[in-house]
Amino acid sequence: MSEQLIDGQTGSWEIVVGLEIHAQAITQAKLFSGAATEFGAAANTQVSLVDAAMPGMLPVINMECVHQAIRSGLGLKAKINLHSVFDRKNYFYPDLPQGYQISQFKQPIIGEGCVSIETEEGGIKEIGVERLHLEQDAGKSVHDRHPRKTYIDLNRSGVGLMEIVSKPDIRSAEEAAAYVTKVRAILRYIGTCDGNMEEGSLRADVNVSVRRPGEDLGTRCEIKNVNSIRFVRMAVEIEARRQVDLIEAGGTVDQETRLFDPDRGETRTMRSKEEAHDYRYFPDPDLLPLEFDQALVDQLAAELPELPDEKYARFVANHGLSEYDARVLIDDRETADFFERTLTDGESKRDPKIAANWIVTELFGALNAADRSIQNSPISSAQLGGLLDLIADGTISGRIAKEVFTEMFNTGSDAGMIVKAKGLEQISDTGEIEAIIAKIIADSPDQADQYRSGNEKIAGWFVGQTMKASQGRANPGMVNKILKAKLK
Ligand code: MN
Repeated sequence: MSEQLIDGQTGSWEIVVGLEIHAQAITQAKLFSGAATEFGAAANTQVSLVDAAMPGMLPVINMECVHQAIRSGLGLKAKINLHSVFDRKNYFYPDLPQGYQISQFKQPIIGEGCVSIETEEGGIKEIGVERLHLEQDAGKSVHDRHPRKTYIDLNRSGVGLMEIVSKPDIRSAEEAAAYVTKVRAILRYIGTCDGNMEEGSLRADVNVSVRRPGEDLGTRCEIKNVNSIRFVRMAVEIEARRQVDLIEAGGTVDQETRLFDPDRGETRTMRSKEEAHDYRYFPDPDLLPLEFDQALVDQLAAELPELPDEKYARFVANHGLSEYDARVLIDDRETADFFERTLTDGESKRDPKIAANWIVTELFGALNAADRSIQNSPISSAQLGGLLDLIADGTISGRIAKEVFTEMFNTGSDAGMIVKAKGLEQISDTGEIEAIIAKIIADSPDQADQYRSGNEKIAGWFVGQTMKASQGRANPGMVNKILKAKLK
């Protein structure tokens, strides 16, 4: 159990969260028109007559959006409905010229599924998926261009969204964050949504309620359009606390839609919650029910890439990675691919555990410090593999390797070139190491006496002196062996 209890003045409360994620399907064209969907285009340059809701225009389903929804459904281990229906969800909004959104209400394209998340205690918890349906995005009202006017940008109007609705299985802010992270990873792996929350291509509506442990569900509030994982976590915490304080002060929670203000650290009422019947849903008479064959589903399933959970299991079982390393590496597909390329790029095969360790600690550390992602890492997987080869064959020590790594990161050079240019090859020549050690012992008779009279700890001092004298290049294993022999 990783449920998070909130301490109130009258005892503790349980948080219950359900999430609706709007994920923009990666497609060239919109859900019902051929207009482009590229982010950042000049306002109203990607608007067809359908998107602008000109009278008499007819929507035509974009099958690529359908394929993306099916792929996503498969990734969510969900039931794919071969028959689904598009409905009109009627409401007025200035940036929704149709006066309704085409969505799916009673018969969505995707039914129940599940997503597994890791709990804070390291266990696995299944979060139920209620459904995934296809619907149009609305346009955008722009309020900050003119003091007294609002502009409308319809570029986003009609873009295909996949709305993924979870069951109210989430019990903490951490679980909510883990769920969004996992759904985003799955969609990115499959290539159905880029998951870019800053650009709005993935956003979450967070439904929060509180109750006494074991009691029935409380009244929920929906916090709209939360656009980062951190904000999801904050919105759950802040809203749950608000509800507990409200109830304990003798009030009741009204079902309503709220917005989250991260600057002020609060949620505020947007509108009282409308019920489904307020929207007068009815099947869109311009569109036939959406039907396809199981053969299409089977074909898309066969083309699906390996998903995060399966990759995780394989990394642990086949590569022998620790659970921690495996989890970090599968977090996104690019990192997992980088890791596997590091094992095989170039001449030789490399030890997976050592490669994982270098990526998780050294490479991630350097990338974070430089504010870079693995996609634009200055060290390629082949170059990192080259560095690992030099350690494996004894050309350089692990300690020198860190120095070489930093140089590689800063310059983009190959490990071999840096080692050669700077003369960093490990000294594994017995005679050379013996000579260095002999001189140190001769120069330090007091310390040598101490060792001989039983103070074995001082051996470490000799190792340090030897490494220093060799500029870190002496083979540490050999130094230990030769020192022991010479000090006797
Ligand atoms: Mn929606």
